Amino acid sequence: MKAVVINKDDNGYRAEYKDLPESDIPSFKTDDKPDTEEVLVDVAHSTLNYKDALAITGKGPVVRTFPLVAGIDFAGTVSESNSGKFKVGDKVVLNGWSVGEKYWGGLAEKARVKPQWLVKLPDEFSTEQAMAIGTAGYTAMLCVMALEKQGVTPEDGEILVTGATGGVGSVAISILSKLGYDVVAMTGKMSDEPFLKELGATSIIDRAEYSGPGRPLAKERWAGAIDVVGSHTLANVCASTKYGGAVAACGLAGGMDLPASVAPFILRGVILAGVDSVMCPQPTREAAWQRLSQDLDVGKLAKLTTNIGLSEAIEYANKFMDGTVKGRFLVDVSK
Ligand code: NDP
Repeated sequence: MKAVVINKDDNGYRAEYKDLPESDIPSFKTDDKPDTEEVLVDVAHSTLNYKDALAITGKGPVVRTFPLVAGIDFAGTVSESNSGKFKVGDKVVLNGWSVGEKYWGGLAEKARVKPQWLVKLPDEFSTEQAMAIGTAGYTAMLCVMALEKQGVTPEDGEILVTGATGGVGSVAISILSKLGYDVVAMTGKMSDEPFLKELGATSIIDRAEYSGPGRPLAKERWAGAIDVVGSHTLANVCASTKYGGAVAACGLAGGMDLPASVAPFILRGVILAGVDSVMCPQPTREAAWQRLSQDLDVGKLAKLTTNIGLSEAIEYANKFMDGTVKGRFLVDVSK
């Protein structure tokens, strides 16, 4: 099978696109637990997420065991199963669970995983559409659900989405606009205003406004926000959120730190809701995939997706790291 394999040894850290025998894929069965349930999936599509780019380029400490097949997500068809949960022919999707970090991942023609990590692919989606959404899009849905959980409604006012042209940001804008929210897109690529408006943003602001240190409290503007950037941007987002508003934070594209004050939380009751897609409990991820099948316009999905082959994944991972890419990257593993 073809795969993107990451290695670290005396020759250094490297990612290679190469052929591997299927028998190389690690099994979860052990001598003392020979009946451990596992499922082999014929992967049809995977994607490139920010985390995959970190793993492939070695720019972030994502990969924890070597050699490892990259890819934190995939969609495909079950080809072998000793689990009652899935049978041969079932269409499935996987996001996270440390796949592509600690366990062999989806940037390959086949993947062997634990059944409890798989979600049945909603009937509304092809494997191609599911991976055009990918972990970035599923995380965008988790962020929207986090705002809803805090009671943010379209009537409350503007919602800010940072990192707007990226994977999480672009899908978040599409979902929020379909749900009737007034979405403001924050971006470093002001020339992409037509793209962002086509996705459903009502206005655009330059990310430079929030990229430096700000005041503990700023003018109240946002009813809610989805932040993928972290650092000063997240601090400024919180400082500008209206009384009782909520901010869903899922990313660190601008930095891992949070140079903020407690003022927005203790003086305005702002809620900072953390969002994690990797270990997210199964009922929440199933709900997120169900919501995506209702609340995401697949026509918009096509507009924000670039199709690439598995053989091109390494090249595109490097482009991710210089911040020049936009939207989602769908990987056809047969090419
Ligand atoms: P992308 O690379 O597709 O998008 C990130 C966007 O952030 C860029 O397109 C750019 O948008 C903006 N950006 C990049 N660098 C900077 C910077 N230095 N300062 C400010 N803005 C910047 O990544 P994804 O959308 O896939 O992921 C976004 C973040 O969310 C990542 O940090 C990722 O690790 C995280 N994530 C977390 C998950 C979780 O489970 N918590 C799951 C999925 C993603 P623009 O040019 O429009 O400003």
